[in-house]
Amino acid sequence: MDRDFQLRTIALQAFYAHESPLEDNPSCIVTGCRNNATYDCQDCDAPGLYCKECLLKEHQFRPFHRVHEWNGEHLVTRTLMALGLIVHIGHSGQPCIHLDDSGGPQVLTIMDVNGVHEVRIAWCRCFNAMSFAEQLLSRKLFPASIVKPRTAFTFRALKLFHMVHHVGRTTPWDFAGTMHRLTDNVDPASVPVSQIYVPRVLSYIHAILCLSIHLFRIFINPFDMFSDNGVS
Ligand SMILES: [Zn+2]
Ligand SMILES: [Zn+2]
Ligand SMILES: [Zn+2]
Repeated sequence: MDRDFQLRTIALQAFYAHESPLEDNPSCIVTGCRNNATYDCQDCDAPGLYCKECLLKEHQFRPFHRVHEWNGEHLVTRTLMALGLIVHIGHSGQPCIHLDDSGGPQVLTIMDVNGVHEVRIAWCRCFNAMSFAEQLLSRKLFPASIVKPRTAFTFRALKLFHMVHHVGRTTPWDFAGTMHRLTDNVDPASVPVSQIYVPRVLSYIHAILCLSIHLFRIFINPFDMFSDNGVS
């Protein structure tokens, strides 16, 4: 048999196998769990399905993964937020005891390398807590604004944009369009942040980061520039 044809055949079989569980009523892939498993994560390399409890537990620090649920006939797109995932910032990922003060967790729109996500964020609201922007930065999320941020970008997404911008001359508009398509290729207009807003913010953040890196290379402590005793 022609080797190309052979490769196409086994690739098609593999694609098909990923579209349905290989066995009826599979068990959760997490060691020690015997629950019935129905959730597949597109971004984990796990060779099997999760039960809901393990899916949420395993994704506390991976909130930007995309999941599907097996409904007995086919896989249905779900979101970790709709399944109940809350990302706790501060306290090493544990809930803040003041979690429910001032309105409780809030939904943020966050862009990662695999597209745009809505994520429920539980801030640390202790009296000495960092600002919301600082809390996001502590979790490698770059806020789109410093006051009451509602949109953020993962450091991974910013690094990817930085590279494709410099190597491939990709514009912020093309990058945002790609991310919208990665989120929903059928209806990119349904993505919860506009294709006009994202490139503007991306350009702004990129400029800030490029300047920060430039300053960091020139000065041992670039923040001294802005202090009373620093370099002016
Ligand atoms: Zn995952
Ligand atoms: Zn489980
Ligand atoms: Zn707290």
